[in-house]
Amino acid sequence: MKAAILHKPHTRVSVEDVDIESPHEGEVLLDIVGAGVCHSDYHYVDGHVKPRALPLVMGHEGAGIVREVGPGVTSVQVGDKIVLSLDAMCGYCRNCSEGSPALCETHQGGVPSRISKNGTIYHHGRPTYTEQSVVLADACVKVPDDTDLRIACLISCGVITGIGAVVNRAKVEAGATMAVFGCGGVGLNVIQGGVLASAGKIIAVDKVPYKLELAEQFGATHFVNADREDPVQRIREITGGGADYAFEVVGFPALVRQAFASVRMTGAAIVVGVQPTGEDISVDGADLLRDRAIMGSWHGAARARVDFLWILDLYRQGKIKLDELISRFRPLDEINEAFEDMVQGKVARTVLVFD
Ligand SMILES: [Zn+2]
Ligand SMILES: [Zn+2]
Repeated sequence: MKAAILHKPHTRVSVEDVDIESPHEGEVLLDIVGAGVCHSDYHYVDGHVKPRALPLVMGHEGAGIVREVGPGVTSVQVGDKIVLSLDAMCGYCRNCSEGSPALCETHQGGVPSRISKNGTIYHHGRPTYTEQSVVLADACVKVPDDTDLRIACLISCGVITGIGAVVNRAKVEAGATMAVFGCGGVGLNVIQGGVLASAGKIIAVDKVPYKLELAEQFGATHFVNADREDPVQRIREITGGGADYAFEVVGFPALVRQAFASVRMTGAAIVVGVQPTGEDISVDGADLLRDRAIMGSWHGAARARVDFLWILDLYRQGKIKLDELISRFRPLDEINEAFEDMVQGKVARTVLVFD
């Protein structure tokens, strides 16, 4: 089967034939149907984040159909439609029990590789830029049979990371004001999370005019081009002193500082963007003491088996936009071009599709 492999940062991803094992105990073999091209994958290519090990089978956002189940798997069956969760959930650890399965303690750390080529191990998490993938059953969310997985694959990471940051993590109240730094695939979902939460003002901040246009389509009410004006000052003006919430959805400490500086007393900056490996974030301690908070938000504090299903319900009702997130579909072979489009800010999301 074919898979997209990163051999070295700062090189093109190569699409090659690899071998995949049958699922072991607790694992499931999926035929991938759709995979969203997410910035987190490109972070391994551009060096923003250091991969645990190389070569790396890429992709983490995706959906597929169960082809084979390993020993002991009872939660899903052959033929089930699955939207993958970024995080596997044991259901028993303290975080799972307390309602934070995205931070399941049992499944922290890597998974054994089931993909190789000529005897060389290719490392992976829950790869989706691949025709087939072996994943933990604990990471599978079964969705209704009439779900279009080429669309629903986006829920796996980008959609829940954005919407969940608003409704699960920050718990934005009706009427609250919020700013969103970065209007890419995840940022647009922070914006539609704000719409769901009935935020009073949703201020979109980006440097790319096309992304600010998308932000408007997704329900942002105010727009700041950070190339032309100081976002902190503009947000303070628009909100009359600072936003209640500011979401950093790009992944740079300097932007977290800006987000923090743009929230009012009692407000919170929420770190959604994947930060560079090993870098510190600093803020003014006096500002922090005015009941301001900085909070991290991992994967939208997702309770995947609950959240993915209501997101699909609201999508069917026209209250959540998924189709509009997809700028184009491409075959796996065009993964490098899809990354290129993303880096240049030409697309909201590209979805890789498999026949
Ligand atoms: Zn992602
Ligand atoms: Zn757990």
